[in-house]
Amino acid sequence: MLRILNYIDGRLLEPLNGQYLPNCEPATGSVYSMVPDSGNEDVSLAVAAAQAAFPKWSATPAMERCRLLLRIAERIEERLDELAAMESADQGKPVRLARTVDIPRAAANFRFFATAAVQFSSEAHIMENGVVNYTLRQPLGVVGCISPWNLPLYLFTWKIAPALAAGNCVVGKPSEFTPLTAFELSRICMEVGLPAGVLNIVHGTGPKCGMAIVTHPAVRAISFTGSTRAGREIAATAAPSFKKLSLELGGKNPVLIFADCDFERMLQRTVASAFDNQGEICLCGSRIYIERPLYEKFRDAFVERVRQLRVGNPADPHTDVGAIVSQQHYEKIMHYLSLIPAEGGRILCGGHRLTFDGPLQQGWYIAPTVVEGLSQQCRLNQEEIFGPVVTLQPFDTEEEALHLANDSAYGLAAVIWTQHLSRAHRLAAQLEAGIVWINCWMLRDLRTPFGGVKQSGLGREGGWEAMRFFTEPKNVCVQP
Ligand code: NAD
Repeated sequence: MLRILNYIDGRLLEPLNGQYLPNCEPATGSVYSMVPDSGNEDVSLAVAAAQAAFPKWSATPAMERCRLLLRIAERIEERLDELAAMESADQGKPVRLARTVDIPRAAANFRFFATAAVQFSSEAHIMENGVVNYTLRQPLGVVGCISPWNLPLYLFTWKIAPALAAGNCVVGKPSEFTPLTAFELSRICMEVGLPAGVLNIVHGTGPKCGMAIVTHPAVRAISFTGSTRAGREIAATAAPSFKKLSLELGGKNPVLIFADCDFERMLQRTVASAFDNQGEICLCGSRIYIERPLYEKFRDAFVERVRQLRVGNPADPHTDVGAIVSQQHYEKIMHYLSLIPAEGGRILCGGHRLTFDGPLQQGWYIAPTVVEGLSQQCRLNQEEIFGPVVTLQPFDTEEEALHLANDSAYGLAAVIWTQHLSRAHRLAAQLEAGIVWINCWMLRDLRTPFGGVKQSGLGREGGWEAMRFFTEPKNVCVQP
């Protein structure tokens, strides 16, 4: 059976305690690899390697950092099919999605930040009497990057690439549920000759390995993507030592559909925004609000399309919806489904487990589920389920739509479907969300700031925001 190894100081190492965790394949429910259950000692080793590598890496010309990061991007692109198959097996996502989204976007992260390294600049402010203030933006040193399981390589590289581009050395931890492509990234770094210690990847659980990174005194910043629960714990732990924090957390995103929208385009993208990656994308729209005159037409057409989604083997290129990432997460979603009758909801489709014969028999599959009739305050409308479950609710006025959309502890993303230009802009300004998509979903320009408000996070990543996060600005004031 495959044994994943830590990548520390340019070498692939067993965890020092010799302990491993089983890693299951969601499609079949069977164990198919062993993941290091790393702890403090492994993290300390990784931090020491990163500290040793930092002086040279931070002084490496930006053009050389750019070259190395571009080589990593190229190797990811060259191995697209292989990495997509791994990501699909590890997470349960349809291989088609891994091939068109996860892996190309992981390569794009390295490409984007490779060139950002050579274009990054800082400000100068000239005072009346010729005094010059210039801002030195220096890398922080050793930084920690912790990522979740839902878009494994894409989100891991989203943090690592800007940190390295800005001249930092990294101790990264992917999710213990999806370690495979991060392990391959270690091999790619070795192949392209990334200097030892510049990037270190330590595998293990959040409370043990993740926390060891968060609490290590030499780690200057934590860039974290994951649940609001873990983000809260990390923020509380890191606060006394004043580490820089970027927290990309959970979401419960609203989709506002107005009667004047381009119906066919809206319908196609709303099915995707609800069920792509089994609804396990932080940006998925799980609360769908529809202007009342369109409600029945939308509901019937939507349910018909959702019923046509092909749920099954993630490795099949025709599959639309794959398997749920883990038994634990499967049980969490099933628990929410069990609440629907008591919360007064009516299941329009789905609402149950799907089983298949043969090797997929023990896999974790849930039928895409659409529910109506729930109150705004019920748990299904307020809590993040992070699975293939969406709720429908009609609204009468723009004000009501806005109120419903903002009536959430979260504020990651929102989607508006309307042809009414001024309404779209008006709502975009008032929605409590870090990202608003108008007549589209999931389009990403890496130059734009990314992140949520309220309990969806703290800080912004992407573009210059990420480069700035991974540097410390120092003002130098010069009197001529
Ligand atoms: P999670 O919080 O359980 O784990 C995320 C990562 O943090 C994993 O690597 C885990 O091992 C580690 N971790 C967990 N507890 C930790 C702790 N106390 N200290 C240090 N590290 C810890 O989240 P998950 O289940 O892997 O991912 C799903 C969540 O991520 C959802 O809430 C989803 O909305 C969110 N998410 C957010 C974004 C975003 O950009 N805002 C993107 C993707 C996923």
